[in-house]
Amino acid sequence: MECASAYLGAGEFWRKIPAWNGVSANQFNDHLWQERNSVINLKTLAPLVSKLVSQEFLEDVQQGINAGQMAVRLTPYIISLIDWGRPETDPIRKQFLPLASEIETDHPLLVMDPMSEQVDAAAPGLTHRYRDRVLFLATDTCPVYCKYCTRSYAVGTNTKAVSKISFNPRSPRWERSFEYIETHPAIEDVVISGGDCYRLKPEQITLIGERLLQIPHIRRIRFATKGLAVLPMKILTDVAWLKALSRINELGRERYKTVAVHTHFNHKNEITSITEAALNRLFELGIVVRNQSVILSGVNNSAEAIIDLNYRLSYLNVRPYYQFMCDMVQGTENLRTSLQEAVEIEKLVRGTTSGYNTPLFVVDLAGGGGKRDIHSYEIYDRDIGLSIFKAPNVKKDSYFFYCDPLRSIEPYFRNMWLDSRKRQYMMSSLLREFKGVASNQRLHYSVLGNLMRNGI
Ligand code: SF4
Repeated sequence: MECASAYLGAGEFWRKIPAWNGVSANQFNDHLWQERNSVINLKTLAPLVSKLVSQEFLEDVQQGINAGQMAVRLTPYIISLIDWGRPETDPIRKQFLPLASEIETDHPLLVMDPMSEQVDAAAPGLTHRYRDRVLFLATDTCPVYCKYCTRSYAVGTNTKAVSKISFNPRSPRWERSFEYIETHPAIEDVVISGGDCYRLKPEQITLIGERLLQIPHIRRIRFATKGLAVLPMKILTDVAWLKALSRINELGRERYKTVAVHTHFNHKNEITSITEAALNRLFELGIVVRNQSVILSGVNNSAEAIIDLNYRLSYLNVRPYYQFMCDMVQGTENLRTSLQEAVEIEKLVRGTTSGYNTPLFVVDLAGGGGKRDIHSYEIYDRDIGLSIFKAPNVKKDSYFFYCDPLRSIEPYFRNMWLDSRKRQYMMSSLLREFKGVASNQRLHYSVLGNLMRNGI
């Protein structure tokens, strides 16, 4: 295995895009140039890559966009890291640019808001699930849009397939969340997410950070952004934004409170010398960065891919924190992996480096059970691809299901899932067995509801 420092995407890699052959490093590293040249549809993508890919590929993209639940947005940085000679298999393209030819029939239990964030909302855009933690959705836009976003119901602009719920970055809406947090002294930890904190203006970073840090019982805040993976130059050239973040970090330290950045790298190819410069700058400022990654089929569903990613992140002082299963979001079937595959990968990842640089492999339970270690299932029937978890500290009397992708199940059971009558029989049988294990428990409403909606 190569040294983590051996490949950090150095050089002027963007010049391989014909239209950017003459773009200087200064231009490319300017976050405003990146924003101005971001791609939001095929019309803006085609002129950049039409000499590198086939017409069939571009038509495949257009049909993929038409069917997708997420809008398209790609920064020039991300476009430059895609191997346009083999875009069909490129791990970065697969995350952000849909192809109609990749679409797989969704598992019937996939839904638009699998985490039940709207059901569990304490205020508009505020989820209170764990006793001491809230999720504060500050905005609904991002510098790029991931095809597998768990918040597909809200993030980004409307698509032909989905009308989104809006979480505008407005302080009147935020005020209701602040008031809720202030009046709930058990809350110590706030995740500021969205959307993406890169999309907040410096004065908004300041407003949210100061407001939260002045609440006596708040001890930890985290700014969530994928920006470091898709637009790292913002840290180097958006001086006002970095200053605002740094000031909040200092304010936290003055008050003996923790401020951190949580980011989202999925593949080693997302890490370049620009990433290194950005992360070094954050390190100089004493800003802690942790990574949350998602196992995605065709992107990083191998031990080697995750080991490489974690080596490089650790090398750059980013702590690998969570390795998520892909959430059960509609439209993501082609990217999902089975729980068994994740268990096998984890076995090969653990022990390759220090424990504190090894992410915990988790499934964020559909129905709002929170994050659970993938190994902590109560029952896992590998034939039908269904596992059942409990979350005693979140929803004590509930059970939660994770469904493997249909492609990972043998045809006999796959067809049963797709046939509502056979599905009813199969699920009823499992439920009976299940109730025998814990007859005094109830099934979680969202799972039952979904089953019922699907005719079970
Ligand atoms: S950056 Fe995060 S919030 Fe934005 S689309 Fe990707 S996963 Fe969703």
